[in-house]
Amino acid sequence: MNETAKLPPDDYFRDHFSGVSEDGKRNWFYPQKPKGKWHNRRVVFTVAVLGILFAGPFLKFNGQPLLLFNVLERKFIIFGIFIGPQDYWLFGLTMLSFMVFVVLFTTVFGRLWCGWACPQTVFMEMVFRKIEYAIEGDAGKQKLLNKAPWNSEKILKKGLKYTLFLTVSFLIANLLLSYVLGVDELAKIIREPLADHIPLFSGIVGFTAVFYFNFAWLRDQACTVVCPYGRLQGVLLDRNSIMVAYDHIRGEPRGKLHKGQERPEGDCINCHQCVAVCPTGIDIRNGTQMECVNCTACIDACDSIMDKVGFQQGLICYTSENAIVHKTPKLITPRVIGYSVILVLLWSVLGFMVVSRSDTQTTLFRAPGSQYIENKDGTVSNLYTFKIFNKTNYIVKPTLHLDAPNGKLVFAGTPDLTLDGAGMSEGTVFIIIPKTELKTRKTKLRLSVYQGTEKLESFETTFIAPEE
Ligand code: SF4
Ligand code: SF4
Repeated sequence: MNETAKLPPDDYFRDHFSGVSEDGKRNWFYPQKPKGKWHNRRVVFTVAVLGILFAGPFLKFNGQPLLLFNVLERKFIIFGIFIGPQDYWLFGLTMLSFMVFVVLFTTVFGRLWCGWACPQTVFMEMVFRKIEYAIEGDAGKQKLLNKAPWNSEKILKKGLKYTLFLTVSFLIANLLLSYVLGVDELAKIIREPLADHIPLFSGIVGFTAVFYFNFAWLRDQACTVVCPYGRLQGVLLDRNSIMVAYDHIRGEPRGKLHKGQERPEGDCINCHQCVAVCPTGIDIRNGTQMECVNCTACIDACDSIMDKVGFQQGLICYTSENAIVHKTPKLITPRVIGYSVILVLLWSVLGFMVVSRSDTQTTLFRAPGSQYIENKDGTVSNLYTFKIFNKTNYIVKPTLHLDAPNGKLVFAGTPDLTLDGAGMSEGTVFIIIPKTELKTRKTKLRLSVYQGTEKLESFETTFIAPEE
């Protein structure tokens, strides 16, 4: 049983953090093994989540990864849509709509993400914790083993556990890098000599150490101390949000069950089983708390107690505060409608930007300090510098064309405009136009970028000519 279970009741929890003891030391939790229908559902869901997570880097669309988060080179692929360093608007809008989606989702469904799909909870509760239970046994046995002297059994169990922890951490580090670099790049690095990829190898070692530290030692504190999402719950949740909650109307006043006696109390028999299974060491009966990751373990624990004492299940369940107190569950509130409207607007703009964006982005400006040149053949030249950015993840071979007015482009030297994925080429070019085409001192020019016969983009610039 957790330390919290021994603490004085009433309002003690309000100014105490479950992860820290009275003397300022860390409370190390030994949650009892969860079992029940919600846990079984989570196991099935976890298999699906891990399957998707590990298959993700191998999924391809049009020859490129379906998902890539290369923060080092600022290249992202989200469901086949490439977002490169030039797409800062697209990136910003994607992030903004993602945040609004998170806010909307949390307002309606509370911390469903934390309990079911967050990689921290999935790996901690469904992988590392299960390894621990399998090797060291349930909470009581784990406590005894930790207190036991370092005999051969303890060395064997701890050695095996931490070796497995390290192996899984190494796997997760590789998984993370396959999302950052792409699985092809990672495979190449693994095949090639180690000496050629020291920084990346150091990255794998570093991330393995971080994951090992996280899952072997930090554990619940990653959710209760580090994770910013957890700390935002106070502003994101409202009284209609669905969350794992204790039905205090039905459960209180709590009191021990005495067989054969009339029971004036509520349905909570004060058995503390909900506390004993909690991986963050809280008592859900104290109400919604920042530490609760909605793992559902307390629902299963309480349901099994209710079955044993012959009460109806669901004293702890997925519900909202308004559903408990006023019996008026409400999913669609003005707040939810407001967030939904904002989200639809953002997604519409995002969709428009994705559909209408060009494969290249070109800037072409008159060279600083340059003047027009009057040529003997009756033409005028202006000197320009240009940059062409490739906004795709594949090679583009662009050509520049002057659409209007009549004239020609003469490049300085013979620049190779071939662009690698997300690459850039630059150079200088003279634009030469017959005087007959120039009616004013400043003339608007229209240019286009082509690849073969396909027009990739059009843009304008100005041309300076002598005053007539
Ligand atoms: S209170 Fe219940 S749902 Fe919340 S973290 Fe603890 S066991 Fe999980
Ligand atoms: S498991 Fe249920 S009955 Fe037992 S203390 Fe928790 S809420 Fe009360």
